Amino acid sequence: MDFFFSEEQEMLRESVIKLMARHAPPDAVRKWERDRSFPEDLYQAWAEAGLLRLPFPVEVGGLGGSALDLAIVVYEISRISTDLCMAFSGSVFCGLNILRKGNDAQRNYWLPRLLDGRIKFSIGISEPDAGSDVGNIRTFAERKGDAYLVNGQKLWTTGAALKNSVICAYVKTDKAAHYRKAMTHMLIDNDAPGIELRKLDMLGRRTIGTYEIFFRDVEVASDRLIGGEGGGWDCLMSGLQYERAVSAAGNVGGTQAIVDLAISYARERIQFGQQIGAFQAIGHMLADMETEHEAGKLLMWRAAWLVAQGRDALREITHAKLYTSELYAKLANMGVQVMGAYGLSEEFDMQRYFRDSRSSTIAAGTSQAQRNLLANLMGFKQR
Ligand SMILES: Cc1cc2nc3c(=O)[nH]c(=O)nc-3n(C[C@H](O)[C@H](O)[C@H](O)COP(=O)(O)OP(=O)(O)OC[C@H]3O[C@@H](n4cnc5c(N)ncnc54)[C@H](O)[C@@H]3O)c2cc1C
Repeated sequence: MDFFFSEEQEMLRESVIKLMARHAPPDAVRKWERDRSFPEDLYQAWAEAGLLRLPFPVEVGGLGGSALDLAIVVYEISRISTDLCMAFSGSVFCGLNILRKGNDAQRNYWLPRLLDGRIKFSIGISEPDAGSDVGNIRTFAERKGDAYLVNGQKLWTTGAALKNSVICAYVKTDKAAHYRKAMTHMLIDNDAPGIELRKLDMLGRRTIGTYEIFFRDVEVASDRLIGGEGGGWDCLMSGLQYERAVSAAGNVGGTQAIVDLAISYARERIQFGQQIGAFQAIGHMLADMETEHEAGKLLMWRAAWLVAQGRDALREITHAKLYTSELYAKLANMGVQVMGAYGLSEEFDMQRYFRDSRSSTIAAGTSQAQRNLLANLMGFKQR
């Protein structure tokens, strides 16, 4: 057993820390959040540093990095902001789906554009009547010659309006068939005629933004179907383990920031003539926060390591996703308590982590869905 990063991984970690310090200093992160505007320059800095290339194989212009390498990057970006990190990880996850399920022509067309930062991707699965019940999507793509006409609505699509962004939309192409056979994955430019984007007022993720998308007779060429007609479910499932393991790194990046903030505040804040950390009530809270953060980190690194080894690790990944997402929300709540009213003030970052953390137990599969999955793996069929 080895708990150390390799020399290359340490260098990678250091380079991301430096990049974020340079391109996303605290005041800028606060301003982007206040203005609800995503920093295109930061995305381009990620692209120039080769971070978008990291998990892709050398044959397609990537750097051949593993899930563990990607988790290191996601952890460090998320330590600054899990909101900002969504633009990075969402785009990379969609690109990896194209790598796995696209044909040669599609890989040759889409991947260079993603890897050099010309495009981004957002993921459009959820709809008003399809949340956990993904199979209930209604957005329909009707075949018209060599193209499809898409009509319907997506909800909660993170980053759908970012500059040069392409929506990875999951639609139905057969109203009668079972959803596993009727779902199709298609790439649709976010400014295609017939698309309307509406920004939603949400508690968190205010920089990248969460959107409702309306499709009205949007024409999509058939060469934009990834995995072919009816191949959407397979495409969606193909990346799920990898995505959840790496997303857990985002949660733990968030808890790292929260623990650091809470400890440094407890050192500086004096009440009744002493540091508040010296009150046992606060000192023990910090001790619990740090311990649980370390436990979450270990679950996450194990999950990422197993994925990097090419192992089927559904159980371990689900442990990591469930535990770290609940921990992110829990520690953010405790962090606010440690800071008192200052924890709720926009002058400090704790409230941002508090707001951004809340979606972690809902997005990308709710905690209840993770528990269902684990109970099913134990042989208890959940209804
Ligand atoms: C900030 C944010 C960003 C998001 N970004 C995206 C995105 O980019 N793209 C995208 O497609 N979607 C996105 N989503 C949507 C997300 O995937 C859904 O919110 C999630 O799948 C849950 O669906 P729902 O919110 O409709 O809740 P529902 O599925 O309606 O669930 C409501 C409650 O019932 C519980 N429940 C439902 N079914 C069961 C069951 N079988 N057993 C036990 N409990 C159950 C749930 O756990 C939950 O507590 C985002 C969500 C958030 C909050």
